[in-house]
Amino acid sequence: MPESLPFLPFALPEIGEEEIAEVVDTLRSGWVTTGPKARRFEQAFTEFLGDPAIESLAVNSATAGLHLALEALGVGPGDEVITTTHTFTATAEVARYLGADVKLVDIDPGTLCIDIDAVEAAITPRTKAVIPVHFAGLAADMPRLLALARRHGLKVVEDAAHALPTTSAGRLVGTLESDACVFSFYANKTITTGEGGMVVTRDPALARRMKVMRLHGMSRDAFDRFTATVPSWYYEIVAPGFKYNLTDIAAALGLHQLKRLPAFQKRREEIAAQFHAGLADLPVILPPGPAAGDAHAWHLYVLRLAEGAPIGRDALVEQLFAAGIGCSVHYIPLHLQPYWRDRYGLRAEDFPCSQRAYEAMLSLPLYTRMTDADVRRVVAAVRAALGA
Ligand SMILES: *Cc1c(COP(=O)(O)O)cnc(C)c1O
Repeated sequence: MPESLPFLPFALPEIGEEEIAEVVDTLRSGWVTTGPKARRFEQAFTEFLGDPAIESLAVNSATAGLHLALEALGVGPGDEVITTTHTFTATAEVARYLGADVKLVDIDPGTLCIDIDAVEAAITPRTKAVIPVHFAGLAADMPRLLALARRHGLKVVEDAAHALPTTSAGRLVGTLESDACVFSFYANKTITTGEGGMVVTRDPALARRMKVMRLHGMSRDAFDRFTATVPSWYYEIVAPGFKYNLTDIAAALGLHQLKRLPAFQKRREEIAAQFHAGLADLPVILPPGPAAGDAHAWHLYVLRLAEGAPIGRDALVEQLFAAGIGCSVHYIPLHLQPYWRDRYGLRAEDFPCSQRAYEAMLSLPLYTRMTDADVRRVVAAVRAALGA
């Protein structure tokens, strides 16, 4: 590998002149916090989802959105929330914010998404909600999960941080029959606002509660009991809420990122296809594609070393870095993280699919600013490391 090639980072956002001009316009406008652009971003997001019955609420992170959704659903002390061990800690920590307990379950070894049988086995009389994660951008088995949740009276909040745009049985994630669905616009996600997120729901009562809790538990609706017209200065505090609103500076980025999502998606699909073609003959397990007719957001390209691969995952990551290529591991499962492991006495052998996947996996760089030459360089480096 020529030493002269610049380092290829694991992830880079694609921010264009339109985004920059919109941010500058926001800065010049005098309105830099939540205002007209955040509102427009929410409207554009609902239009993107294609169902006017869906309310989109912009928040300053997906973590905030997950917290708001669970709070609005009434999750609290004594409740249990089931989620996958194979995720980022944000998915699970929000239940702990509310004093609820987390039941981590294993994944399906094929899709790396939450194992629906494991969810069913983990249900107790205390179970209140399930949080599936659409891992890497591939939809979890939502038809089965939603049917199971309905049978047991459980709430479903989707962690769709990887899943824009993803479809499940032909329907966009965000329009399924869950209670709420949460997207992330963190710097390395498929669209970004630097930091940010969107929580969407069709339930007007849930939306109302999340809106109030998003900004300090502040409500102007309460005044309507006394008079039809609320003075602009009047509000009531109805709960100890949070500070989770998205700024107009961030929303300015989001407005243009969302417009570019179809082009971004096309490029991500191309890169994934080039990786598949270049790596298929190696001793690896390629990431699963979507079901026929469905979309995979390809937030991540997660490769697993097969049995009999000449080197281990750690050595492969090291060799890629030596070749000037950034890569990562998604995720160190929660059952191995000290907080989760110690709080719930978790053992690796109770999560065999996640554990095996973790030990064999790495995420290759996949982002829209990569050129075909960058993709070829990654393929060549993986092939060289595996002696092909
Ligand atoms: C990125 C991510 C989050 C958190 O998103 P933020 O917007 O950074 O809060 C949650 N869950 C998963 C699976 C993620 O990848």
